[in-house]
Amino acid sequence: MCDIVLIGGGHAHLFVLEAFAKKPLDGARLTLVAKEAFAPYSGMLPGRVSGQYPIDSGEIDLERLAKRAGARFVHGEATAIDRQRREIRVKDNSPVAYSLLSLDLGIVPDVSAIEGAASHCLIVKPISTFREKLDRLLADLRSGRIVNLAVVGGGPAGFELAHALRKRADAEGRIPGDGGSVAITLIAGNGLLAGLPGRGRRLARNALAEARIDLVEGRRAARIEERAVVLDDGRLVPADAALVTTAAAAPKLLRRSGLGIDEAGFLEVRPTLQAKDDDTLFAAGDCVTLIGQERPKAGVFAVRQGPVLAENLRRAALARPLRRYRAQTAYLMLLALASGEAIAVRNGIALQSRFFLRLKDWIDRRFVARFDRL
Ligand SMILES: Cc1cc2nc3c(=O)[nH]c(=O)nc-3n(C[C@H](O)[C@H](O)[C@H](O)COP(=O)(O)OP(=O)(O)OC[C@H]3O[C@@H](n4cnc5c(N)ncnc54)[C@H](O)[C@@H]3O)c2cc1C
Repeated sequence: MCDIVLIGGGHAHLFVLEAFAKKPLDGARLTLVAKEAFAPYSGMLPGRVSGQYPIDSGEIDLERLAKRAGARFVHGEATAIDRQRREIRVKDNSPVAYSLLSLDLGIVPDVSAIEGAASHCLIVKPISTFREKLDRLLADLRSGRIVNLAVVGGGPAGFELAHALRKRADAEGRIPGDGGSVAITLIAGNGLLAGLPGRGRRLARNALAEARIDLVEGRRAARIEERAVVLDDGRLVPADAALVTTAAAAPKLLRRSGLGIDEAGFLEVRPTLQAKDDDTLFAAGDCVTLIGQERPKAGVFAVRQGPVLAENLRRAALARPLRRYRAQTAYLMLLALASGEAIAVRNGIALQSRFFLRLKDWIDRRFVARFDRL
């Protein structure tokens, strides 16, 4: 019997479960070990914040999906991988033995560079615990406790969240007294959307101005206090709530288990999605560095790796030659705006229209429905 064990219910593992649901493998037993029972789809997060989608939408039920795939579902956190004994230790559970192991763990937050962040702000990543964080934030907005909001991080996630918050705050925020609107500031330490072409950044800046979101560029958040974010030049940005989307670190499980990691602690994998020093260990998504094909941490890569990972686990179980994954260099980025439009960026071209928000909605709903319907 070949014991295939998946740790983490990330985007890539959804495809592995789907593949085994559609085509079971004789002689193999599949197990999913997941800390969270639901996997939030990242593309829909800003829409859940803005109110475009119900707050609980886009959460894929992992236990149900595992059942459809004929997999055992172990609800718990994997705390160590013992490669000598080929065994996973899982918090509050019995050890799980494996023949082939696959990791799709995402990232963990690292806000150690921002003093006070751990106690005074909402750390957006990882997204797996997003729902409970969002519930608290929305309750504070509705009660009028939040008059000033700050989003720290000028990447796509921070940009979209600032827009989503503008939409939600205008609809539901309650300003005591004068009835004005909640003030929102986006703090983009490394500059706004650094990877985008010039026109994309211009569109993004205009969209922020139109949505009445103040932009602070080139200054980093040094400290977060109860009512303010303190910048590294000493300036204060008033903030009754701060959301931090920056600084993702590698899951500690990788280093702790003595796996082949890069300087930042991410697992180094070959194009077959196997660890560089272990043919029985596969991995995908944000927790890996693909040797020679380094890319930003984004769900689109986990999604593209998913089918290759599924196929290679099957082939490895059958002792067949493996497929090679080639990371795409161009991909469509769709950034939702408070105005009901989206900015689309691909191959250095950037455009803005309502059509792109409809396209994003169609892509995102289709993704979630694919696993919900299985
Ligand atoms: C607001 C926001 C919007 C975003 N929008 C987009 C977008 O539009 N497009 C895009 O490409 N990317 C987007 N991203 C980035 C995207 O969320 C991540 O790149 C993506 O989620 C990574 O997927 P993954 O499969 O690597 O892991 P994840 O989706 O993070 O899943 C990892 C899972 O593993 C589990 N896990 C971790 N450690 C253990 C353990 N030890 N034991 C058991 N289980 C464990 C976690 O609980 C989690 O459920 C966005 C991010 C944010 C914050």
